[in-house]
Amino acid sequence: MVDADLHVHSNMSPDSRETLDDICLKAIKLGLKTIAISDHYEFYWPERRHPVFNFKHVEEGQEIIEKARIRYNGELNILFAIEIGQPHFDFHTAKKLVSSFDFDFILASFHKVGGTDLMSHDYMNEDERKRALYEYLDGLLIISELFDFDSLAHLDLIKRYSLKAGRIERIETEEERVREILRALAIRGKALEINTSLLRDYDETMPSAEILRWFREEGGERITIGSDAHKREHVAYAFDCAERIIRDCGFKGYTIYEKRKARIICPGREE
Ligand SMILES: [Zn+2]
Repeated sequence: MVDADLHVHSNMSPDSRETLDDICLKAIKLGLKTIAISDHYEFYWPERRHPVFNFKHVEEGQEIIEKARIRYNGELNILFAIEIGQPHFDFHTAKKLVSSFDFDFILASFHKVGGTDLMSHDYMNEDERKRALYEYLDGLLIISELFDFDSLAHLDLIKRYSLKAGRIERIETEEERVREILRALAIRGKALEINTSLLRDYDETMPSAEILRWFREEGGERITIGSDAHKREHVAYAFDCAERIIRDCGFKGYTIYEKRKARIICPGREE
């Protein structure tokens, strides 16, 4: 059984209302040993700002996590993590963010193509969609080659929002570009996340097993597993499925991070 969920949001993220206590109690009930609280920090185009995303807010989140660590000591290992969205929009501040806190684990992601959340890209025509897809993959390549993080979250997020708009956009159509990202991750020893949140609505993880296999072929060794839960009932959702896919794709096990150090957990043994 996978006993670590490395992608969970609490109400320190603007899109979650769940308290850390409710998340922790649920995780303990499920038999998890480790949970990474990876609340959002989103970067925007320079002219736009979100009031929540500032260093003071991260500091408050850290304090809440430290208090919870004392409350759940011996029952649950709570990791201080972060999900940094589009760090390449403001590399300077993003790097400062990484060096200003003692994170256990850092996820990087790209939600805002063209400065607009992928969620609102439904209106696009074919050409605009293509441009958005290339901007998305180019952005992920820059992040993968240059940014200081641990695992790349939901690599084919574009699939989730295209599905909502009634069509499916697969980055598998751009195999060479995707492999370039995977190669950059593998060379730098970064992990790729298998995100189970889409399994709640559709029969596929993010990214798909096909892309995970490409990652293995490109030399990738580290996979983190995340539910991307914004509600307690989604913690560790469908992790048995993620575990099966990882094994089928040829990975030794799944990776967890603590103080930004990777450890691969294999079924039956650790290394
Ligand atoms: Zn997330």
